[in-house]
Amino acid sequence: MASKIQGVVYSALVLGCLALAVVPSASALVVKLNTLILTVPGYNIDFLELTLQGYGTPYTIVRYNSSNPLNFTQLLWAPDGSANFAGYVMAPNIEAMGYLNSSQVLTIWDYQNRTGARSVKFQAAPINVGLTANPTCSSDDVAMKLTAAAPLGTSGIVSSAPLSSSGLYRCPGLGGAAPLTTCSIWASDFAATGLHAACQSTPVLMVGADIAGTLVKYGDGRESLAFMHNCAGWSTSCLGLIPGERISLLTVHFDDVFLATEFDDNLQAGVLTEYRLTVPDLQAHLTWRKNLTATYPNTTITFELPFNGNGILEKVATTLATTAVSPIDVDDRSCIDFPDYATLGCSCWFTGTAACPATQPAFCRNCTKARGLGPTTPLCPDWAKPLGSGVNRAPQSAKTNNATWNIANFTAGDPLAKFVVANTNGQADGFFWSHHTFSHENLDNVTSFDTDIQIELNMQMASILGLASRKSFSTKCMVTPQISGLRNGDALASLARHSINCAAGDNTWPFLMNSVNPHQMLVTTKAANGYNGFQILPRFATEIYYNCSTPTQNMVLYNNLYRSYFGGDSTIADLLQREATRVLREMLKLRHDPHMMHQANLAILDGSGKSLSMRWVEAVVAELRKYASWPLTSLKLDDLRAAFLSRQAREACALSYAIEVGTNGTITALTVTSGAAADGTQCSAPLMTGASSTSTSVAKGGSARAQPKGLSWYVPHIV
Ligand SMILES: [Zn+2]
Repeated sequence: MASKIQGVVYSALVLGCLALAVVPSASALVVKLNTLILTVPGYNIDFLELTLQGYGTPYTIVRYNSSNPLNFTQLLWAPDGSANFAGYVMAPNIEAMGYLNSSQVLTIWDYQNRTGARSVKFQAAPINVGLTANPTCSSDDVAMKLTAAAPLGTSGIVSSAPLSSSGLYRCPGLGGAAPLTTCSIWASDFAATGLHAACQSTPVLMVGADIAGTLVKYGDGRESLAFMHNCAGWSTSCLGLIPGERISLLTVHFDDVFLATEFDDNLQAGVLTEYRLTVPDLQAHLTWRKNLTATYPNTTITFELPFNGNGILEKVATTLATTAVSPIDVDDRSCIDFPDYATLGCSCWFTGTAACPATQPAFCRNCTKARGLGPTTPLCPDWAKPLGSGVNRAPQSAKTNNATWNIANFTAGDPLAKFVVANTNGQADGFFWSHHTFSHENLDNVTSFDTDIQIELNMQMASILGLASRKSFSTKCMVTPQISGLRNGDALASLARHSINCAAGDNTWPFLMNSVNPHQMLVTTKAANGYNGFQILPRFATEIYYNCSTPTQNMVLYNNLYRSYFGGDSTIADLLQREATRVLREMLKLRHDPHMMHQANLAILDGSGKSLSMRWVEAVVAELRKYASWPLTSLKLDDLRAAFLSRQAREACALSYAIEVGTNGTITALTVTSGAAADGTQCSAPLMTGASSTSTSVAKGGSARAQPKGLSWYVPHIV
């Protein structure tokens, strides 16, 4: 496992350096807002792609191969004289490594001079960027620190961010040595004489006492940011603090609300053998949430509670000893948990229906969970339940189960129901609410009838609790039990008939993710899922387990899973730090996927006043706050879905931007072009300018020209 944990990053600096600083007029120069990544075959640039993809900004990768030399003039300039790129990244620093001849280097420099394009270089040798070399090269983990000269601007990056250099190979600049007055490179046809551009180098990143990064201003006006090391996506130091978005989402789901969750047989919590969330638990989380915001400004976390209404009936029936409410009793096991799976000798769960021997009984052939089987078969495409197959498990009488429901019984017999109905001081609205079906029946192989029962009864429960009309409730997107039913066309069609067209996925299963773009939802197809157009919203699993309420319980299960991997037992502090690092890495890629936990994780049982959920969120927030001061918030399922749809719509528009720069450096116009086919709809084109953002409307397939005011673009030598 690559070192991880670390600090954060360059990308902030990378993008800060390339970011739009300005815009122009009377059009001496047109610059397209695209970033060129210049690299060589086989060089790892995943950290750049992850960052730029997260940001949703255009970029072009060119891998320079000396056996097929590039014409840099054609690459950099369009036939109409406009500039193709607003900035470029060299990774590694190929202009000084023998790949380019002097004519090519001078063509690039001339481009920078005439367009203002800034550059960022990785794996630069100190002498190439105005520094004296420290002859000792290393990839050891030495702490890195940003200097006061780091161009953090409005990025929201914390200047004291604790960055790690673990695994990042570099030959640093010698700390304390006076900067050189020239940036010298030798390569190819100028190997003997070299090019010695006048420059001024200002360190922006130290590794120990030496220099890992520097800002270079050349005598001719060009500007560049250079790092002495390489980078990779596994290092938090190289991933994405993104200037521009300046907001992060941390949404945690607690499935199974209203149900009781059994602990493992040998893992009781004191005398408790199961746990059902309490009102004091929820109230404690509201107080905790307020305190979290006080500790970390700009941080507002709201928990999502996907619920199963049958849990209220079960509680009321027990508390009031009444037969007036009758919880439904439907088998909620997945097919692999049925005794039939063993007695029939099934073996197709992991292989999929297509690969399942025809000699196996129909039950076995339909009891599969297609999953990634390695690089050659990452997405088993089969296992859509045959439409119309299966036997109803729910009784016909379940249809009218609500005939006996009585709100007075609910509030008298279940404090949680009373809490939701009363919504005193908006306490219930301090959480988000969504469907998790009524009795938690696994939907993988169920019929339309069973799915109808499961969603209709839960909708009726949402109504009687008063949730259905509240802003905290989601009506279009839900969480299915065990993330089931997403390849069951009957179940999906039933949910869609009830206006639910979206459900959370589980990123543990590659076939539930969008393999082309992880920032987009996966849309189901008739061929793969038995139904067209249902949206699967990606969701991360966590190491906080569904049947645990205390750190002790959770660590027993965690150590059983990871003891051999880590070579011994871990503590809860170890787990939380690993989780914080893992989640931070996803946040730095601007992933918005929510995170999965369960109702038992909200318990406060061990005298610390803290639930497992509080500990986990505190660890993640503390980790993020070491690096970034961006706003941090949560979105309910329907709003998350809307955010994904908005991004998908923007990306479907294939937007590109070009600015026109006047002779005095003023940006006189901005043209946004949609490269998609026209379909009569409008695209919203966002644009970040410094610390603020605006958006421009452009017809899909068309273009729009705006004349922004007060923006300028730095160009050394406009001609
Ligand atoms: Zn569940």
